Amino acid sequence: MGRYFDGWEQARAQSAAMDRADPWGDLRQLFEIPDDIIYLDGNSLGAAPKAAFTEIDIAAREEWASGLIRSWNTAQWFALAERYGDQLAALVGADDGEVVICDTTSLNLYKALHAGLSLRPDRFVILAEASSFPSDLYIAEGVRSTRPDVSLRLEGIDGDDLENMLDEDIAVVLINHVDYRTGRLRDMNALTAKAHAVGAIVVWDLCHSAGILPVDLNGADADLAVGCTYKYLNGGPGAPAFIFAAKRHIAKIRQPLSGWWGHADPFAFDVSYREDRGIRKFLCGTQPILSFRALKASLDMFEKLDMQALRARSLAMTALFMQLVEESCTDFGLKIITPSDPDRRGGQVALTLPNGYEVMQALIEAGVIGDFRAPNIIRFGFSPLYNSYGEICRAAEILHRILENEEWREARFSKRQAVT
Ligand SMILES: *Cc1c(COP(=O)(O)O)cnc(C)c1O
Repeated sequence: MGRYFDGWEQARAQSAAMDRADPWGDLRQLFEIPDDIIYLDGNSLGAAPKAAFTEIDIAAREEWASGLIRSWNTAQWFALAERYGDQLAALVGADDGEVVICDTTSLNLYKALHAGLSLRPDRFVILAEASSFPSDLYIAEGVRSTRPDVSLRLEGIDGDDLENMLDEDIAVVLINHVDYRTGRLRDMNALTAKAHAVGAIVVWDLCHSAGILPVDLNGADADLAVGCTYKYLNGGPGAPAFIFAAKRHIAKIRQPLSGWWGHADPFAFDVSYREDRGIRKFLCGTQPILSFRALKASLDMFEKLDMQALRARSLAMTALFMQLVEESCTDFGLKIITPSDPDRRGGQVALTLPNGYEVMQALIEAGVIGDFRAPNIIRFGFSPLYNSYGEICRAAEILHRILENEEWREARFSKRQAVT
């Protein structure tokens, strides 16, 4: 930006100039987004790529309706988990055969934590962040319920710094690459190296980094990772998640959800389980093929993108929003909790403010869709694919208006919905 905030007229002109100078502007046409909506929640549910409708239509009408059961072979439905896994692997710095698409992030975490424990059979501690996405912690508790010999230590409760909590008792460290609330980005290379120095296995949760910044799992010598595809990867509501295991570990890993899709020879219909030797060992049962096909449309789009350029645009977007909010809205008790250091932040900006819930409801009614996370955080996720600098400026201006005029005080904005 360069210049300091000097009124909304100037900010609008400046963001419009940024859009004109920006070669990415056309990508929005690849998405179906209502014209009157400024969609800033792609960190929760990415927008719909138009190509997804074509894929779903082909999968439903041609492959399902006409092909029927034959499509498991003729449309290679049975191979999609690995095939799309290879496509996604390229996005997160993994090799072919190291990623498989399946199930949900929560389920994959269950497998990954057990997998990590199976690689360190003489250790009995899982280390995680108390600030983790709650499902990650609930799943760690679930793992512990099946392994009473295992205990859980939490950064923020049992100690205050993950790095200083690493010791030779630790079997597995579970780390969220980008914090779902603050948007803080962890240093994958440094933390993986520190964990390895004490002999621990690291499970990276990439839910808030896959598809929004360059991830280099093998460059960091990562062990295991999971992530979801319905956030920045635009795979659609409930799109299947992914799991990564480094090649050096795969043969040694055990995971407990031993369903027939993970069997070495599923159609032998053996009485006993014999796991696949490759990445398919992480599969459990039949996968949601229609959702797979929606995801394919998005993976095809990402294949053509330069992730370094995407990251640069993402950082410019979050910087613009932080600057506009900082310079126009901080009088209203609002605080930016996302790191200002570009090396330390992901693709979203989080603010704390009193009455955050009501303010977000007022924003949504005004056509600016972000979300709210208890107790007092509002989040704005910016997509370099379909958002513009103009929209970001407009969103900040509307936020400013709602705060200045106290529009959020309207009674209807305090009614709590089931999903925030
Ligand atoms: C979104 C998210 C999840 C979601 O898990 P699901 O099983 O897909 O519901 C898990 N972990 C993190 C860090 C997330 O951001």
